[in-house]
Amino acid sequence: MIPLFLLNMSNLPNTRAKKITILGLIIINLIIWTAGFCLAQPFFQKTTKPLTIKLTPAAITNKTPANLLELPTTRPTTLNPKLTNAKEIPIINVAPIQETWDEVKKKMTIEPKEFERQLVTLNKLHFTTYFVKDLPELLTNYPTSAHPIILTFDDGYKNFYLDVYPLLQKYQMKATYYIINNLINHPDYISTNQLIELSQSPLIEIGAHTLDHPHLSTLPTEKVKIEIERSKDELEKLLHQPILTFAYPYGDFNTTTLAIVKQAGFVAAVSTKYGILQSLDNIFSLHRLRSGALMASDSYLTKLFN
Ligand SMILES: [Zn+2]
Repeated sequence: MIPLFLLNMSNLPNTRAKKITILGLIIINLIIWTAGFCLAQPFFQKTTKPLTIKLTPAAITNKTPANLLELPTTRPTTLNPKLTNAKEIPIINVAPIQETWDEVKKKMTIEPKEFERQLVTLNKLHFTTYFVKDLPELLTNYPTSAHPIILTFDDGYKNFYLDVYPLLQKYQMKATYYIINNLINHPDYISTNQLIELSQSPLIEIGAHTLDHPHLSTLPTEKVKIEIERSKDELEKLLHQPILTFAYPYGDFNTTTLAIVKQAGFVAAVSTKYGILQSLDNIFSLHRLRSGALMASDSYLTKLFN
């Protein structure tokens, strides 16, 4: 750039010539500025990219990580002495991979091979798997010898029967499987016969997850009652066993929903509220972690109980 004030104009022949020279210099300056701005553009674009925000431990305790496979770096909850029989018991909401899903959905799921690797890790770290229906008893008489962990699978996908169940049998580990009644026998979902077979296994707890998987907090109370009570009754008639726990579709519930679940005779219900702190006070809105926690390094799982 040529700073105009640095040029000495006094030796120029006349005012007209001076005016033309100044105008010329202004034009040259404008050209230089424009060219300079264009050249610097890529640099500006690079440096104004949004910054990645690192979650602080405080944020981790209150928020589900944006990316479900992102690993928490600290324990997700701290013990609150005001809660009745509070214990840190991880309940994992595992989503096994489904071949027919698109890439976005696949990113939130876990490959059978990786799932198997994590089952081996859980064994190595002396975790003991329990059912959700065991929680009231677990919280009352907490076992000091074993680290309890609960594996849950929502929605009644067929891949649970095909990919997960054989692994649970291989490692003798338990899981709670939540069914959407009206999707039984649909493509990608469990069939009646497969469900009956699973219900007879000592490794599987079958739980209710409504008839149609609606957002319960948006429905009129009468409809909520039907979705919750009928899902329990129908499964009990089909499987000839008590259905004791419930999972809120989308983790969506309010005080009315919670009261209906309690009244229907369930002993516990899982939400999608992030955390591992369970207590008799939140037995109908239990905290869960997503598959990401299972993808976690061995050291994270070890840290949970050390
Ligand atoms: Zn669901």
